[in-house]
Amino acid sequence: MKHILLAPALLLSTAVAAQTPADHAAPDPQRLRDNVQTLVDFGTRHTLSSATDPERGIGAARAFAADRFRTISKDCGGCITVETIGETVTGDRIPQGVRVEDVLGIQRGTGDPDRVIIVQGHIDSRVSDVMDASSDAPGANDDASGVALVLEAARLLSRERFDATIIYAALSGEEQGLFGGELLAKTAAQRGWTVSAVLNNDVVGNSNGIGGQHVADQVRVFSEGLRTVADAEAAATQRAIGGEDDSPSRALAKAIDRVASAAPGRLEVLAIRRPDRFRRGGDHTPFLKRGYPAIRFSEVVEHYDYQHQDLRTEDGRVYGDTIDKMDFDYLARVTALNMDVIRELAAAPAAPASVDIEGAVSADTTVSWAPVKNAAGYRVHWRRADQMDWTDARNIPADQTQAVLEGVIIDNNLFGVSALSADGAQSVVTFAGMPGGSGATGVAAEAE
Ligand SMILES: [Zn+2]
Repeated sequence: MKHILLAPALLLSTAVAAQTPADHAAPDPQRLRDNVQTLVDFGTRHTLSSATDPERGIGAARAFAADRFRTISKDCGGCITVETIGETVTGDRIPQGVRVEDVLGIQRGTGDPDRVIIVQGHIDSRVSDVMDASSDAPGANDDASGVALVLEAARLLSRERFDATIIYAALSGEEQGLFGGELLAKTAAQRGWTVSAVLNNDVVGNSNGIGGQHVADQVRVFSEGLRTVADAEAAATQRAIGGEDDSPSRALAKAIDRVASAAPGRLEVLAIRRPDRFRRGGDHTPFLKRGYPAIRFSEVVEHYDYQHQDLRTEDGRVYGDTIDKMDFDYLARVTALNMDVIRELAAAPAAPASVDIEGAVSADTTVSWAPVKNAAGYRVHWRRADQMDWTDARNIPADQTQAVLEGVIIDNNLFGVSALSADGAQSVVTFAGMPGGSGATGVAAEAE
């Protein structure tokens, strides 16, 4: 079979142009620890705790996050705009209603500012009783770890300039029902953002599992396969074309895996073929409901005695989410990977909005795609349909939006296209024939 083949090693050498150069400072474990400690010191950050007490409660914690963004912005000549978005919500776990607020640091893109990369963690915490807003709820790992990661990424990435906008987000209301994630996803839709990626970091700072395992060199990336947002017709199409492993969320997970593999010394990505932990969800879920590409980072082995627990010792067994159980070198490595991914995707053009293929009952396959603003070129990917990762690729000049792959049989292969920047940064791959394309513009939201 005539098969155009690029060796994987050759592909890798050109695939990640934006990998960490030597002059990029690495995330600092001590700063991560200091920020987690500060968050823990607010006593509780329960969503129903005080919004006005300057020392204890969710309000003080949110003020701290906003203050950190402002300080970082001062050091970069005002490159980050600090914004708080909020709305009053009610729910099973907020029966009286409360104003949920997300604190955002917005680093505006220099070339394509309406395109955004979101990196987020949730600032609220809880203990055993999800309605207990007064007991100490340190939430060190869940999820001060994620917020500390966001703040450290903002501090370091604010020294650089990117084509796309980066949104650093500290979300509230997660434990009461993903309200902060919903608020930000809704905001993305209302403001018409093109969302290239949502990186949700939740429970990312511990390397010791409840079963005694220690895993400090891997991280899980959870992504959906079949799309939450697909209606019956779209789901039927995704199934019919074999697109179960190439949704926008899964394609983002594969891009993260690619970036991690290309940067020496990075964590190994476990690209978990599930939207979240078994039958659970997180603040990326509201984005999936709107069709945006969104994934969750979490540590590999969790310790459940240290999550959602009242601080106590029972029969010599210690419970509670306290800072002493965390691994800040590990959290620094998860932060570094997030930063690599943000650099790559914020420097790359948008992913093609849609990709089509033709070639049934033919020896060849024709791939065509929607042109991408500012793309310096494209890369057509394919793989034999019994593989999960792209194995073959061909670069196409920027003035073309179609490629004929001679001798590549459509029935036996899967296809996709990414967009390239001049220095080789690569977008997420848009799967050929996928209903909803790259997902970057979301879909019409259900009833609000
Ligand atoms: Zn959490």
